[in-house]
Amino acid sequence: MATETPLDVKSTLNLTKTDFPQKANLGQREPERLERWRETDLYHDILRARAGLPVFILHDGPPYANSDIHIGTAVNKILKDFVVKSHSMMGYCAPYVPGYDCHGLPIELHVDKKLGAKKAEMDPVEFRRFCRDYAENALRRQTRDFQRLGVFGEWDHPYMTMSHAYEAHIARIFGKFVERGYIYKGARPVYWCITDQTALADHEVEYKDHTSPSIYVKFPLPPGQVQELKNRITSWESKEGATAPDLASVGSKPVYVLIWTTTPWTLPANIGITVHPNFTYAAVDFGSEVYIVASDLVGAVRENCGLNSPRILVEFPGHLLEGLRARHAWLDRDSLLMTGTFVTLGGEADAETELDVRDEQRKGTGKSGTGCVHTAPGHGHDDFVIGQQYRTQLQPIYDQLRRAGMMPATSEATDVYCPVSNAGRFTDDVERFSGMKVFQANRPIVDYMRETGALLFTEDYTHRYPHCWRCKNPVIFRATAQWFISMDAKGTGTRSLRQGALEETDATTWVPSWGRERMRNMLAKRPDWCVSRQRLWGVPIPAFYCRGCKQILLTPDLINHVASIFETDSADAWYSRPASDLVPEGFACPGCGGRDFEKETDILDVWFDAGSSSIAALEHEYQLPWPADVYLEGGDQYRGWFNSSLMVGLAVHGKAPFKTVVTHGWTVDGEGRAMHKSTGNAVSPNKVMESSGAEILRLWVASSDFNDDMRVSDEILKRQIDAYRKLRNTARFALGNIFDFDPATDAVPESEMLEIDRWALAVTRQVVAKAVEAYKRFDYTAVYHALYNYATVTLSAIYFDILKDRLYTFAPASTARRSAQTALYRIGEVLALLLSPILPFTSDEIWEHLPGERERSVHIATFPDGTPGSGDASLIKRWDRILEVRSLVQKALEEKRAAREIGGSLEAKVIINTDGKLYRFLREYQDILPSILIVSQVELRGEGDDVTGSEAPRSGGDETAEGKRYAIRIAVEHAAGLKCERCWNWSETVGRDSRYPTLDSRCIQQIEEGWGAGKVVG
Ligand SMILES: [Zn+2]
Ligand SMILES: [Zn+2]
Ligand SMILES: [Zn+2]
Repeated sequence: MATETPLDVKSTLNLTKTDFPQKANLGQREPERLERWRETDLYHDILRARAGLPVFILHDGPPYANSDIHIGTAVNKILKDFVVKSHSMMGYCAPYVPGYDCHGLPIELHVDKKLGAKKAEMDPVEFRRFCRDYAENALRRQTRDFQRLGVFGEWDHPYMTMSHAYEAHIARIFGKFVERGYIYKGARPVYWCITDQTALADHEVEYKDHTSPSIYVKFPLPPGQVQELKNRITSWESKEGATAPDLASVGSKPVYVLIWTTTPWTLPANIGITVHPNFTYAAVDFGSEVYIVASDLVGAVRENCGLNSPRILVEFPGHLLEGLRARHAWLDRDSLLMTGTFVTLGGEADAETELDVRDEQRKGTGKSGTGCVHTAPGHGHDDFVIGQQYRTQLQPIYDQLRRAGMMPATSEATDVYCPVSNAGRFTDDVERFSGMKVFQANRPIVDYMRETGALLFTEDYTHRYPHCWRCKNPVIFRATAQWFISMDAKGTGTRSLRQGALEETDATTWVPSWGRERMRNMLAKRPDWCVSRQRLWGVPIPAFYCRGCKQILLTPDLINHVASIFETDSADAWYSRPASDLVPEGFACPGCGGRDFEKETDILDVWFDAGSSSIAALEHEYQLPWPADVYLEGGDQYRGWFNSSLMVGLAVHGKAPFKTVVTHGWTVDGEGRAMHKSTGNAVSPNKVMESSGAEILRLWVASSDFNDDMRVSDEILKRQIDAYRKLRNTARFALGNIFDFDPATDAVPESEMLEIDRWALAVTRQVVAKAVEAYKRFDYTAVYHALYNYATVTLSAIYFDILKDRLYTFAPASTARRSAQTALYRIGEVLALLLSPILPFTSDEIWEHLPGERERSVHIATFPDGTPGSGDASLIKRWDRILEVRSLVQKALEEKRAAREIGGSLEAKVIINTDGKLYRFLREYQDILPSILIVSQVELRGEGDDVTGSEAPRSGGDETAEGKRYAIRIAVEHAAGLKCERCWNWSETVGRDSRYPTLDSRCIQQIEEGWGAGKVVG
C-alpha cells in the first residue's frame, strides 16, 4: 500500500549483529576463560569425549624447577600444546602429563647460597627439605604460567622427579641397569668442575672459546733408546729394502720426541707419548738438535716454532717407536712411547677437548700438532684407554710413583695417576707446583720449562674448550672413582647400549630429518655415561660397602628393597636411616658374612632422573601406553634428555621410549642475537601475556619456523597482533551475519545453494585438508599460512566482499540469503575448529557465538572433514577463472578511481570485451557478474565487438595467470540511471515505481518479500 509515510530504509536492511566483541581484550578475558575451563574441568571432559579412541601420547620432557618461565620454555610448551591439541582434534585421546625435573645442582647451589653458614650445622635430611621446598615453589609458579599460556594438561597432578614414587622408580630403574650388567664403578677421567667440585656428564658441558698457552715441549730420548731406535730402523730397512743415508747422524746430536699441548698443567701427570702406528715419522735435524715428529708435520712445526730449515735424517713408521722410553720433560721419570690410532695429524688429541672439538680441529685449525701425543691417563679419555692397554709396560712408572707415595699403595682401584684434587689444585707430591690451582699453574710451568730448556715454543691459542653448564667456568678432565653406565658392555643381553641406541635411532622418525644423523654422531662417539655426582639433592646410588671385606654390594634385590623404602619415606630415608635399616632383615655380606655396611654417598646424575620419566611417570604413575608417540624438545636435548631417555628405554624394555622426536631451535631477538636479561633484549612471556594475551605469543610461535632459530621482538609481536586482528575480524564477519540463522531450520542443502556459496565451501574443504595435513606433519607454519591466507584473502577480500550486498539487502529468509548464511555458518565452524590448537581462547569464543546445538567447547569437537565433494575440483577451476577476471576489473576500477572519474565501484559500469571461449563462459554468469565485480552494471561483448571509441582499451587483461589463453579488454564508464537509496547500486529502474521512488526494482522486490509493504510503509 503506497502511502505518504516515508520509507524507513534502514529498518529493511539486515545489519550485522553480534556480541562477539571486535576488541579482543585478551589480557583480561583469557584469565576469565581459563577460570571457566578449570571450574568445568574441560581438560577431563575432552578426555571423556575421546574414551575408547586411539591414544596419542606426547611425553613431556620435564623443565627444571628452579626459575620462572622464559620465552624459550614458553615456546617449548606452546609447541607441545599444538601437538597435543591438534591430535586431540584429529580424534585421538591425547592426555598430556606435564612434568618437572626437581633434583640437582642448580637448586642445591641456590639453597647453599641462601643458607650460608647455617648449612654446616644442618643434617642432610634438613638440607634436602630446603631443596624440596625450593623446587616446589618454583614448579608452582611455572605451573601457573604454563596454564596461563592456554596449555591443557594434568596440571593438578604433574609428575615430579622428587615425588616418593618417582624416586623409588629411579632406584628400580638403576637396578635394571645393574641387572643387565651395564653398571660399573671405576676410576676414569670425567669432566670435573673445580668450582662446583663435582663430576659432570658430557651433556653438562658447553663449548666456548678459551685462550690457553699452546706449547711445544721436548721429551729427551736417552742415548740407549736412540741406539735401540737405530737398530729397529736398520732391521726394518733391510726388510723393506729402503736405505736412509743419514741414519748414522741420528744420535750425534741430542734427540727429542716433540709433543704439543694446550694444557701445560697436565704435564706433571704425563706418563707417556702416543704415536700413530702407521703414520710416517721423521728424525729431523733442526741445527743443534734432532726432533722426532710426524713427517707430514715437519713443515708446520718449523713454521709454528720459527725454526731453521730442517734436514730430514731418516723416516720410519710410528710403530718402530713403540715401547721406547723417553724421559719426562723435567721430572725424573720415564715417559713410555705407545701407539694408538686416535692420534691425528690435525693437532694433538687434546687431553680435555673431547668429542666435537676433536672433529673441529681435524677439519679446522689443523697442523698444530707434532703427531706425538702427550699422554696423561688421569686427564683424558683416549689417554685413559691407552693407559689401560699398556698397563704392564707402564708398571715400572707406577711403581716409582707408588714408592714416592704419589699413587695409592693398594691396587684396589684402576691404576690412574691423577695428581689433582677436587678443588683443582695439584696434590702435595707435585714438585714445584704443589697446591697451585691447575689453570693458574700453566704460566709457572711454561716459565719453568723455558728456564730448563724443555720448552721449544709457546704462544697464546684460542680454541673451543668445555665449560661447566652451571657456573660457566672452564672444566677439567680428571680421573676419580665414579659410577658408570657402560656404552659397550653387552652385559646379559645381545647388544650393547651403544648398538641398541644406534639401531633405535634408525627406527625413530626425526623432525627435522637431520636429527637422526645428529643423534647417531652423538651416540657413536659418546664415552661411558658417568652417573655419579658428589652431591646431596638427588636420588642416592643405592649401593652398600661391606666394612668387613670392602666389597661393593649392589644387586637388583637389594636395590628393590631400598626402592620400596623410598616409595613410602622418600629418598631422604637413605640419609635418615643407618645402613642396617636399609638392607633386608637378616642380610649378610655374601663375601664375608659381615653385617656392618657403609652407604654410598654419591647421588645419581639428574639426567638419569629425567631419563626415567617414560617409565616412572608414563608407564607406572599414569599407566599410559609405552613408548610415547612423540618427544618434542630443543636441539640441546640430543645429548641430554633424548639420550638419557633412550638409555633407560633400552635398559628397561630394550626399546626407544619414543616413535617420533621433534626438535626446535632457540629463541633469539629480532636481529638473531641471543637474549639476555643483561642486554635488555629478552622478551618476557608473562609481560606479553599480560599486555597482549597468550594468543599473540601462540600465534607468533605458529608463524615461526621452529626448525630454525625463532626470532622475537616487540616489533615482531606487533605484526602478530595485526594478524590476530585480521583473523578475529574474519570470524566476526561470519558471526555478525548469522544472528538470525538457525542451522536446524534455515540451512540450505549444499546442492541447492548458490554457486558462489558452493565454491566457498569447496575452497573451505581444500583448506581443511591442507591444514590438517600440516598439523600431522607438525608443520605449524604451513597451518598458519594456510589459515591466514584463507581468512584474509579468500574470505575477507573476495568472498565476504561479494556477499555483503546479498546479506544486507536480500529478504531475511530468502533462499539467496540463507544460502550465504549456510556457508558463513560452516565457515565460522571451520575457522574455530582449525584455529583451536593455535588460538584456544579465541576459537572457543567463536564457537560459543555460533548458533545451533554443539559441544560446549570447541576443544571437545573434532576437526571437520576435508574430503572434497565430487564437483569441487571443477567448481574451483571455474571460479579461479572468474576471480581472475575480477582482479583485472578491480585494477581497471582502481585506475578510474585514482583519476577521480568514479567514486565507489558501484558508480561504475564495466564493459568486458573478450573472445569466444571466455565470452561464452562469462555469459553464463551474466546475471551475477555485477555482484561479483561489485559494480552496478556489466556489459559483455563477444568476439568482433569493439570497446567504445572514447574509452581506451584496457590491456591489463592480456596477461593472465594462465598465460595468453584468452584476450580480454576492460572498459569502465559511469553506471547508467540513478543511485538506489537502499543498496547504492545505480539502476535505470530507480524512480519507476511511484511507491518507492528512490529504490531500484531489485530492492523493491526484496522489501516486499522480506518485510511486506505494510510493515515498512506505515
Ligand atoms: Zn661448575
Ligand atoms: Zn664382606
Ligand atoms: Zn537497491
